Formats: sequence, C-alpha cells, structure tokens
Amino acid sequence: MKGTVLYAPGDVRFEERPEPKIINPTDAIVRISVTCVCGSDLWPYRGANPITQPTPMGHEYCGIVEEVGSAVKAVRPGQFVIGSFATSDNTCPHCRYGYQSSCEHREWITTAQAPQLRVPLADGTLVATPDVPPDEMLPSMLALSDVMGTGWFAAYAANVKPGGTVVVVGDGAVGLLGVLSARQMGAGQIIAMSRHESRQKLAREFGATDIVAERGIGADSVLECVGTPESMMQAIGSTRPGGHIGYVGVPHGVELKGEKLFYTHVHLHGGPAPVRRFLPELIDLVWKGKINPGKVFDLTLPLDQVAEGYRAMDERRAIKALLRP
Ligand SMILES: [Zn+2]
Ligand SMILES: [Zn+2]
Repeated sequence: MKGTVLYAPGDVRFEERPEPKIINPTDAIVRISVTCVCGSDLWPYRGANPITQPTPMGHEYCGIVEEVGSAVKAVRPGQFVIGSFATSDNTCPHCRYGYQSSCEHREWITTAQAPQLRVPLADGTLVATPDVPPDEMLPSMLALSDVMGTGWFAAYAANVKPGGTVVVVGDGAVGLLGVLSARQMGAGQIIAMSRHESRQKLAREFGATDIVAERGIGADSVLECVGTPESMMQAIGSTRPGGHIGYVGVPHGVELKGEKLFYTHVHLHGGPAPVRRFLPELIDLVWKGKINPGKVFDLTLPLDQVAEGYRAMDERRAIKALLRP
C-alpha cells in the first residue's frame, strides 16, 4: 500500500507503507473511501512544528469496515463508518461527559491519507451510517470526521443561542462550517471575517448575514478558528463582556496576558473538538440533506497527487482538498 509521508517542510511524498493490520482485539481496519488535507496539516508542512523524522499524515477519514478484531461488537465488515481524529472508548468518565477527545485511552489518528487505516477502539470511535451513502454524499460525510465537528464544537463552546449575535474569526474550512453550525443553531446575526471573495460567497451560502474584514465589538458568541496570537486577540476583542469564545484553532504562539483577560469578562472554552459526541446528530443531518458541509471541498485529487493538495491549500488556491484513493 502507498501512503502519505511528510519528510520536511514542503516535502510531501506518496510512498510505500506497511499495510495496516489488526494489532489489538478492539481495532478495526477501514478501507478509506475519501480522505483529505486538514488546515492543521499545514502547520508542519510550513515548518511551524519541527519534523524530526519522516511522518505519515492524515487524520480525517470515512470508509468501509474491512476487518474487525475479536472484541469489536458495534461495527462489522461492510458497514460505512466515520470516526474522529481522536479515538475514544466512549465509556470512560471524560467520554461520558462528552469530551471524547480527552478520552483516558485516546490515541490520535495520524495515517489516514492512505487507502487503508487501522482504527483503535473501533467500538467507541466509529459510527456507522444507516446505509452506504451515495457517492455525492461522501464529501459531507468526510467533513464530519473533523472540520464540521470542529466548527460545530466551536459554535457549541461559544454558546451560540437562537437569535444571538455571532462573530466567526477565520475563513478556512472550520470557520466556514462554524458559520453553518451557528446558522443551524439558530443564531440571528452571523458576522464572518474574510477578505477572500470565494470564501465570502460560501460563508453567505452557509448563513453569514454580514462579511467584514476588521473586527466589530461586542458579539454574544465568537468562534476562533485559526490559532494565531492575532486571531485569538481578534476573538477576544470581538466578544462582549459576559460573552463566550469557542476556540478550536490549534494554538501556535498564543499567549494571553492574565490581567488583560481579567478585564474582558469573557468565557473561554475550546480544545480539540469532541467530534465523536456530535457524530450521530451530524450524520443524521447530512443523511437527511439538511446540511451540506462537503461544499468546503473545492479541490478533488486522486490520492497519489496528495502533494498538490498541500500546495494548493498552502497557497490558499483551495479551501480544502479532498483525496480519492
Ligand atoms: Zn483535521
Ligand atoms: Zn473514554
């Protein structure tokens, strides 16, 4: 099998990799239908995270269960499944509180830009769809594996309420799906911050009522979907006293001054999204055609051209690249 490996900043290779095998009785092997490049993959691609050795890539996936370990009961070969980038037993206390991405037995999925994937803790991690979805639904199902679940968590963590005002910082896939999530949760005014025409258009399609390039002041709910010091300060500056910030951009160099934060009166809630918590509800919304988060994929490539997917996203020629094995 061939899979994606990052050797150095800007150096993505599609090369021979060992085929995944069942290691623990709780594992499943999934034949990947579609996978993709994540905005967070661009951090190491751009050299923001040190790469000490060739690193397999990919954590967003959906596909058909090919094989399960002897202890797996909830999914079976032939089913179409989606899982989060964080595995979870779905039974420990953190999981039961809905924070499956902090599961006591969590492992990160790191090799999904490949035709096959081993998923640990299959029973708790994977959720099967009612049937194998039609081809045109695959991008939306794939989006649930991370970006849609993360945008949804951002809106949840920012306490989006019917009629409330919402600011979304970041016009990447997660920010755009944060707009969709806020709309779905009944927000009144949704202000998307973007300077890019194609992204502004999609933000409007997903439910943004206003597009601005600079921050306004005083929203009830602010979704921080980038992870830089600038975006975090933008988010804090856009929140009213007593308002809520949901932050899901993986922080790089973000440092908050305690005293400054103290006087803002904002609520902060964020982290790696517990996507697993939302999967059943989001699968239902996609299955019934109520949301179409797959629209964030504006580039589709065969998996063996994965390096071009990274390049296109790095140069912001593409919002998000879908890869077909
Ligand atoms: Zn991701
Ligand atoms: Zn757990």
